[in-house]
Amino acid sequence: MDVIKSRRVSVFGSTGSIGRNTIELLEARADEFQVEVLTAHSNIELLCEQAVRLNAKTAVIGDETLFPELKERLRGTGITCAAGASGLLEAAARPVDWTMVAIVGMDCLKPALEIVAQGGCVAMANKECLAAAGKLFMEAAQRSRARLLPVDSEHNAIFQLFDPERAEWIDYITLTASGGPFRNNTLDELENVTPAQALQHPTWSMGAKISIDSATLMNKGLELIEAHWLFPVGHEKFRVMLHPQSVVHAMVAYVDGSVMAHMSAPDMRVPIAHALAYPERMRAGTASFDLAKIGALDFEPACEKRFPALRLARTALERDDGSATVLNAANEVAVAAFLELRLRFTDILPAIEGVLEEMAAAPGALGTPQNFDDVFELDRLARRKTLENINRRARSRRNLPHTPAGVPNPHMEKIA
Ligand code: NAD
Ligand code: MG
Repeated sequence: MDVIKSRRVSVFGSTGSIGRNTIELLEARADEFQVEVLTAHSNIELLCEQAVRLNAKTAVIGDETLFPELKERLRGTGITCAAGASGLLEAAARPVDWTMVAIVGMDCLKPALEIVAQGGCVAMANKECLAAAGKLFMEAAQRSRARLLPVDSEHNAIFQLFDPERAEWIDYITLTASGGPFRNNTLDELENVTPAQALQHPTWSMGAKISIDSATLMNKGLELIEAHWLFPVGHEKFRVMLHPQSVVHAMVAYVDGSVMAHMSAPDMRVPIAHALAYPERMRAGTASFDLAKIGALDFEPACEKRFPALRLARTALERDDGSATVLNAANEVAVAAFLELRLRFTDILPAIEGVLEEMAAAPGALGTPQNFDDVFELDRLARRKTLENINRRARSRRNLPHTPAGVPNPHMEKIA
């Protein structure tokens, strides 16, 4: 089954959870892929190891202070080294056949735009870019004729079920959500949740930021917005269903009552393999999927009243202005503050809602971004406001439950 002939590929964010899974798949069929660029923010050891193992042409480290060490470590290997934002952008501008976009957060937007501008196949794992700037991002992809391949498991599932030629016959689309580690807890019980507890996802193994997003369900909120831009059927057609087994990733219901569901083990190698081999198929290295072993599958509608993150995302979609940019920025700041032990878990969503309402109430503060400069400006403003609010709150409330001052937080390095 020699379907994938030597393709030039790059992996942005190769040391992260998605990045490592991608590297594993590339390595399993090393003779079919020629690795151009690998990038990481600060995990220099793993970046160098991957670059040497996969014989990459270039390794880029985001943290510029690590550039001398990168050169030292890769001396004599023939691998070109680069660093910092400019190094990332130059690497992103290098045309390849396929790129994995797996840098977490809005820091990914500039390199992602450069990657999209080259017009190849773009495996899109990052969801923040689409949540914050979906309309403009999709327009950029259309202009360059880049082939966007969604990697987020729900969106990859919809992509496999969705026929854009027959979109008018779609009745509704369901995104499933595991519900995260606190699905059955009351708000009171979540007051003293620590980062270590929130990072324990019941079904998926992921990076720190998305794990916290899954615990607040903001991950599903961001995914609703992401889905709206990737599959333009109208946001009111998207539903969220709680499904603790994380086996069904999405369902597309047609007007005749047929419902197509996509299933797989909760393992990101499955959607990554789909995107890597597209339009062919390749083995993902997972055990053969056996529904009989799983036995029963549970579903219940995710109530937007019970899960405020879904309500906030839905409101941002309804407003159709810069709200989604603000929501995403405020969420990144609030999640980082929680991981740094500066914000309670239960204060993450109120912090986001506070900034959204504050900016919506200020005349002219929340227009619809017309271009990416507007997006970056709105993002900067929302981050500043969120940080100010969090700092003000922290000053007035010094009794956070998990603030042993000076104790290093092991989760911090994962967040840029
Ligand atoms: P992660 O934190 O494990 O990895 C992030 C990667 O980005 C690392 O390689 C890191 O070095 C790099 N990075 C971080 N900040 C950077 C910066 N400022 N500049 C350059 N590089 C930087 O994250 P992840 O879980 O792999 O998620 C990556 C993206 O994919 C996120 O947007 C996430 O929402 C999305 N996603 C992840 C999963 C999953 O299962 N992990 C599933 C669906 C979608
Ligand atoms: Mg997902």
